[in-house]
Amino acid sequence: MPVLAWQPIAAIARGVQDGSLKAADLVAQALAAIDGQSDFAAIIATTPGRASQRAAEIDVRVAKGEQVGRLAGVPFIAKDNFLVFGAETTAASNILRGFTAPYLATAIEKLEAEGAICVAKANLDAFAHGSSTENSDFMTTKNPHDPTRVPGGSSGGSAAAVMLNMAPFALGTDTGGSIRLPASFTGAVGYKPTYGLVSRSGIVAMASSTDVVGPLTRTVADAALVLDVMAGQDSLDSTTIARDAEGYVLDEATDVRGKKIGVVAEYMGEGLQPGVKTQIDEAIAKLKQAGAEVIDVSMPTLPLALAVYYVLCPAEVSSNLSRYDGQRYGFTAKEAKTLDESIKQSRSQGFGKEAKRRIMIGTYVLSSGYYDAYYKRAQTVRTKLINEFAEAFEKVDFLLGPTSPTVAFKIGENTSDPLQMYLTDIMTVASNLTGNPAISIPAGTSEGLPVGLQLIGAQKADKQLLQIAQATEGILG
Ligand code: GLN
Repeated sequence: MPVLAWQPIAAIARGVQDGSLKAADLVAQALAAIDGQSDFAAIIATTPGRASQRAAEIDVRVAKGEQVGRLAGVPFIAKDNFLVFGAETTAASNILRGFTAPYLATAIEKLEAEGAICVAKANLDAFAHGSSTENSDFMTTKNPHDPTRVPGGSSGGSAAAVMLNMAPFALGTDTGGSIRLPASFTGAVGYKPTYGLVSRSGIVAMASSTDVVGPLTRTVADAALVLDVMAGQDSLDSTTIARDAEGYVLDEATDVRGKKIGVVAEYMGEGLQPGVKTQIDEAIAKLKQAGAEVIDVSMPTLPLALAVYYVLCPAEVSSNLSRYDGQRYGFTAKEAKTLDESIKQSRSQGFGKEAKRRIMIGTYVLSSGYYDAYYKRAQTVRTKLINEFAEAFEKVDFLLGPTSPTVAFKIGENTSDPLQMYLTDIMTVASNLTGNPAISIPAGTSEGLPVGLQLIGAQKADKQLLQIAQATEGILG
């Protein structure tokens, strides 16, 4: 069966609402696209039983003339670090094998309340630690444009799934770039909301001070609609913030005329692949032509962001991963005789290399002798960065740069050198540390591989960012 492209999400839901499309057929289409393209290793598990049942219920309700929601019958795929019913939740880690969710993630609950249907769980770097999905304890996802290359990470399975037409949208998490980077490497749209805009209740925590939930889609309008359904305060996540009163749906086109866009100087220099630079320069020229006012902006602390992230993130990871003791969730080592032995062996056998590396770095930077030298100093620089971003947004409406310095790299190319892998995140981590919203949209190709353009907005200016991103998407064609 050929894999069909999906209509815009709003059109699919309208079709289901008026009875011209059947939710059951949409679920079948998604599952067939998943089954037929398993070679890409994008999906860890499908949830056919629950999905078909939900689809049948929706079709019955439509037949009775009932309201079925704004996302009625729209299939979607969740990264496997979301608690979802109908399959295990593993975060692609061996230590969570066999774990089933006791409750639903709030984001999933909200989407399902509007009629969306989760059909599968997508692959990721275990616990979302990584930039390529090669840290998954199960398998490496392949890039839809070239199966010898990575799809980016850590939400690589979600991005690949969308570009392989397995579903109209997928969910990811972005702690240091994990939605935007795979979007950039696969040609998808990846949206990281302002920190706190979407509840993290029911998400396997990575680094709690930067973790956010967001959509991967083919268009900005689809991303905005999904965000609109998920956004807002949640009593189960005390870090959540109020949603914009106007919501996030893009029903009116905006243009870039008169908008002030700051090109981040630090992102356009050393280390940027020439082919990526060409595409970004071309996008800038087109934005200028369309009437945007483009200026250069320099943020001197920006080059320190990656180092700050790789101190703070492991510190939080080491704390968040301490709950996996082999007793409460998933995997338990079989041969242990005492509780202590069981904890030690379960963690030694259950965690992969990258999780262990982060636990070691994290506990080191938090240890009493080194706390001031590393953790505290990193927090100080983080504050500086937050201030520099705030100052930049006094001068410009949006910041612009590439999402990644390179196009998708070859599978295996960076696995032996963790530092090289960490450098992939050099253009994404800063907005996680500051909490600003950011998006990656496709901006042409270099050597046949997608290039991502990153736009960053002021705190809580998610709607405005989505508007300018949609306008830019139109200009770039
Ligand atoms: N690649 C980054 C890391 O490995 C970001 C991960 C993420 O955003 N989940 O930490």
